[in-house]
Amino acid sequence: MTRIPFFDLKRQFRSLRDDILEEITAVCDSQSFILGPKVEMLEKAVSSICGGRHAVGMSSGTDAELALLMGLGVGLGDAIVTSPFTFFATAGGAARLGVKLLFLDIDRDTFNLSPARLEEFLNSDCTFDERGVRTNEGLLVKAVIPVHLFGLCCAMDEILLICSRFRVPVIEDAAQAIGAVYPSSNGLKRAGGIGEFGFLSFHPTKNLGAFGDAGMALAKDSAMAARLKVIRNHGMEPKYCHHVVGGNFRLDALQAAVLLKKMPFLGAWSRRRWEIAQYYQAEFSELAPRLQSPAEPFKESIGNRGHTYHQFVVRTARRDQLREHLRALGIGTEIYYPIPLHLQKCFAHMTAKPCPVSESAAKEVLALPIFPELTDGEVEVVAKGVVSFFKK
Ligand SMILES: *Cc1c(COP(=O)(O)O)cnc(C)c1O
Repeated sequence: MTRIPFFDLKRQFRSLRDDILEEITAVCDSQSFILGPKVEMLEKAVSSICGGRHAVGMSSGTDAELALLMGLGVGLGDAIVTSPFTFFATAGGAARLGVKLLFLDIDRDTFNLSPARLEEFLNSDCTFDERGVRTNEGLLVKAVIPVHLFGLCCAMDEILLICSRFRVPVIEDAAQAIGAVYPSSNGLKRAGGIGEFGFLSFHPTKNLGAFGDAGMALAKDSAMAARLKVIRNHGMEPKYCHHVVGGNFRLDALQAAVLLKKMPFLGAWSRRRWEIAQYYQAEFSELAPRLQSPAEPFKESIGNRGHTYHQFVVRTARRDQLREHLRALGIGTEIYYPIPLHLQKCFAHMTAKPCPVSESAAKEVLALPIFPELTDGEVEVVAKGVVSFFKK
C-alpha cells in the first residue's frame, strides 16, 4: 500500500545534512550558546524578509507574543481580541498575563479574523474614551491579534483601519505565514511587518523550522525593539539591574545557526508548496461545492507570493469519512483545528461573541499533505484519493 505521510522532516534534513552539521559543529566549537553573533545575523536576515521590521530573537513564537504583550504593558484588567480558530498559543501567552480573551468569529472563506465582526464588536460592545476602548465589563482592550492562518494574510487594511480608529495596537500572529506577501493599499507588505507588531515561529513544523523551539518578535518602532531585548533577558539592563520583570525568552545560537542555513531555501520551499496547492486546486475544481478548496484572495494581484501554504485545508461536510477514506489509502491528514479556543475548558471564563463560522469550520476542515519534499507522484496520489472519495 502507498504510504504518504502528512509531514516528513527527515526528507528535508537529508538534503541539508552535511551543511547543517558543519554549522552545528562550529557553534559547539565556539561553546557560545546563548544569543550572540549567530542570533544577530538571523535577526538581520529575518528583518530583511519582513519589511525591515526590527527583529528580536525569542525562545519560541509563544514567548515572542508574550514578550510583545509585556512590552505593551498588558496585564490584569486588560482584554485581548483574537480569533478562536487558531493554534492554542495565540491565546495562551495572553492568558498567562491574566488578561481576558475576547474571541470574535472568522470569515468563512479565509478562516481569518473577520474585520466585520471586529468593527461590530468595537462599535457596539465597547465604549471609547481618552484612555482607549473599554469592554462593557470595564476592561481596557490592549491589543488585537489577527492570525495569518495557514499562510494567508488577514484582511489587514480593514483591520488596521478599524484598530487605528479605536487606537488599539495590532500584533500579527505570523507564525504560519513567514514571507507571505500582503498587497496593502500602501503597497506590498510582508506577514508580521504589515502593522506595528508581529511575531514568527520557527517550530520544526513551520515553513522555516529550527531543530527545537525558536521564534522572533517584530516591531516597527526601535524603542519597542530595545524593550523586547531587555524583556527577553529577565528585564536586565545594565547587567544585574532590573527595572522591569522580564523572562528567559532568549534564542540560542544552535537554533540560529540552523535557521541561517535553511533560510536561503525558504522562498523555493514556499513556491513548491504553492505549486502543490495549485495542483490540488485544479484537481478538486469539479468537486465544489461538496469540497471547498482554500481561498486565494491575492492570487490575481501577486500570484504565488500571497499564500505560503503552511497548510492546505479543504472543507467538506463529510470530513471524517474523507479522512477515513484517505487513511485506508495510506495517506496522512490532520485536523486544524478540531476545537475552537472559546470551547476549550481552560478558557471557560473568557468571553466570546457567537462564533458559528469557527464552530462549523472545526467540524469540516481537513489538512492534506503539502510539505515541499512531496514528489509529484505523491501529490497526484493524494489528489486522486480525494477525488475517488467523491466519485464513490
Ligand atoms: C506555532 C504557532 C504559534 C506558536 O509558536 P511556537 O514557536 O510553537 O511557540 C503561535 N500561533 C500560531 C498560529 C502557530 O501556528
